Amino acid sequence: MTPAYLDNNATTAVAPEVLDAMLPFFKERYGNASSMHSFGGDCAQDVAAAREKVAALIGASPDEIIFTSCGTESDGTAIRAALQVNLGKRHIVTSRVEHPAVRALCAWLGERGYRVTEVGVDSEGLLDMAELESALTPDTAVVSIMWANNETGVLFPVERIAEMCRERGILFHTDAVQAVGKIPIDMRKSAVDMLSLSGHKLHAPKGIGALFVRKGTPFEPLMIGGHQERGRRAGTENIAFIVGVGKACELAAATMDKEGTRVKALRDRLEGGLLKTVPESRRNGHKTQRLPNTTNIGFRYVEGEAILLLLDREGICASSGSACTSGSLQPSHVLSAMGVPMDYKQSATRFSLSRYTTDTDIDRTLKAMPRIVKRLRQISPFTPAGAAP
Ligand code: PLP
Repeated sequence: MTPAYLDNNATTAVAPEVLDAMLPFFKERYGNASSMHSFGGDCAQDVAAAREKVAALIGASPDEIIFTSCGTESDGTAIRAALQVNLGKRHIVTSRVEHPAVRALCAWLGERGYRVTEVGVDSEGLLDMAELESALTPDTAVVSIMWANNETGVLFPVERIAEMCRERGILFHTDAVQAVGKIPIDMRKSAVDMLSLSGHKLHAPKGIGALFVRKGTPFEPLMIGGHQERGRRAGTENIAFIVGVGKACELAAATMDKEGTRVKALRDRLEGGLLKTVPESRRNGHKTQRLPNTTNIGFRYVEGEAILLLLDREGICASSGSACTSGSLQPSHVLSAMGVPMDYKQSATRFSLSRYTTDTDIDRTLKAMPRIVKRLRQISPFTPAGAAP
């Protein structure tokens, strides 16, 4: 049976149109876009067309788009560039709920003499704006705050934060890897200086990303070498993947309105159904200030990993809010920052949908989950006597 794939915040299926657009570049069109001859040089036009499509999705101009290898590279490039162009400043502001692509880098920089402030969130996952504002100092080189959280889908007021940073002359970067292609984003109406996106979260393959750098923003490249990407990211262009992410952005722009509404209805049906049919379950994350495709639900007295295992046996792919490292359960740093009680945190299960999610996927999950949770509660040492199954 085809799996019910509800783990689209981890990665998405490559759209058939994206694959078709990429294939010629693995076969007859294998030239190097930097070559003098037309066999290679013509591919530069395909790169330019893809750049236009990526730019169009986020309301940027094509020369503000730098292709990278992934979201992680885009995040690292942006934060390190901001530090390089602000050598006298030693302070970084970020949040407690960032993806490791930002969080681990900031921790690494913290061990190398930078002062890092991690701004907290409330119990619904919303950013503490007062704490953010008071963290900004004349020594702050960069603020990096995600647009949408990958575990809960909660959205942050990135536009407002960007304004606050601009007023103070501080560079602002946003990790928009989970937001691009799911919600409207328009850099013409925004003060964001740098924005990261990743192809594999919007139906392009893994291994391609992009970084938006606003015109006039001081910048230093991370990758130094050839003159590709106008000297801002060295390395022979990955033309097939660049064409792929261009096509994916074009499709996202064309389908976002309609699919966003459909996906949100499916997500709400799933969430509402689970909260109703599984006793002692609760949503982790704000009800409305959220991506349309994500729900994170805790099921008291059971463990997320056990849920995932039993879902997997039924051909349903979801993800847990915690990672199992060397035999010990490490609860999610996102849910910990929100102060989610332990028994809801350790059982947190994330379902993330896409435009390929069907009614049947949701029906299957709604049917399986009450049974799975009931079974696990029967054998769980955490279930108190007399608790609802
Ligand atoms: N940022 C966020 C919010 C993510 O969800 C991810 C991937 O899960 C990344 C960054 C990293 O992107 P990539 O896998 O392309 O390196």
